[in-house]
Amino acid sequence: MSRIALDGERCVGSGACESLAPDFFEVGDDGVVTVLRSEPADDELRDVEAAVRTCPTRALDLVSEQPATAAG
Ligand code: SF4
Repeated sequence: MSRIALDGERCVGSGACESLAPDFFEVGDDGVVTVLRSEPADDELRDVEAAVRTCPTRALDLVSEQPATAAG
């Protein structure tokens, strides 16, 4: 499972992410994006990855969430 991480301080409200993955990103009136859903399903990852790559200020990231495992 991957999770979207947003660094709101870097977002300049370009809207690139929203245009590529509108189910996940919405730029508000304040010019900062809101993450609508932070955990894309496997078949949604492609759009979200494209949005993350396209962000001009690298405000977005996709982080892998490791399933919790007992430490050996
Ligand atoms: S692409 Fe980046 S800078 Fe543009 S609205 Fe999305 S997070 Fe903000």
